[in-house]
Amino acid sequence: MKGYIHSFESFGTKDGPGIRFVIFMQGCPLRCLYCHNPDTWKKDDAQYTLTAQEAFDEIEKVKSFVRGGVTVSGGEPMLQADFVLELFRLCKADNIHTAIDTSGFLLNDKIKELLNYTDLVLLDVKHIDPSKYKDLTAVPLEPTLKFLSFLSEIKKPVWLRYVLVPNFTDDETDLHNWAKHVSQYTNIERVDILPFHQMGIHKWQQMGLNYKLQDVKSPSPEIVKKAEQIFEEYNLPVSK
Ligand code: SF4
Repeated sequence: MKGYIHSFESFGTKDGPGIRFVIFMQGCPLRCLYCHNPDTWKKDDAQYTLTAQEAFDEIEKVKSFVRGGVTVSGGEPMLQADFVLELFRLCKADNIHTAIDTSGFLLNDKIKELLNYTDLVLLDVKHIDPSKYKDLTAVPLEPTLKFLSFLSEIKKPVWLRYVLVPNFTDDETDLHNWAKHVSQYTNIERVDILPFHQMGIHKWQQMGLNYKLQDVKSPSPEIVKKAEQIFEEYNLPVSK
């Protein structure tokens, strides 16, 4: 079995604790309006097809530098849970910290097994309003909330991420509802508010895709601050 991989990053600093080796998997069932990497959507567009052992060999080459561990991101890594499970088995046998960056859209027995070998889940809950979530991602919200609930049941450490997009995800009532919902869980170790920016636009243009956020600006520092304050009202551990 081979993994379909978009790319590697040897010194990632934003995808989990410490300096990390990040593997971006190919394939995603979501179609987020603000996606920075639409070139990861189709599995068959993979730049690399590697076995788990071959991917692990890449990690071994830089292991002395990437002391934080390994993060598998995407795309949606849970689409290739078999591959990631095999890779994480190798990592855990070598005492390497493992993290998955996911939308939480998928959950099945294989993914549950994979979570046994996963130290940390970076979970995007992209909106709390089901209708707006669907508009933003093209898929329903409910699976992600179920996934979060399951992570709580198994007491899996979670870092939540929230992309703040003016006029899409910054409504104050929605922010309160989001914070209220996630604050019921005690396994949330950190919440990152990620201000929207236009870094992915050139990929949409190159691929001839209809990019609907063309005229959307990054949120002002005041809007970011407001979101932080709302989340903190619910005692969420907001990272600044
Ligand atoms: S889940 Fe991530 S990779 Fe998939 S469409 Fe959304 S932003 Fe892009």
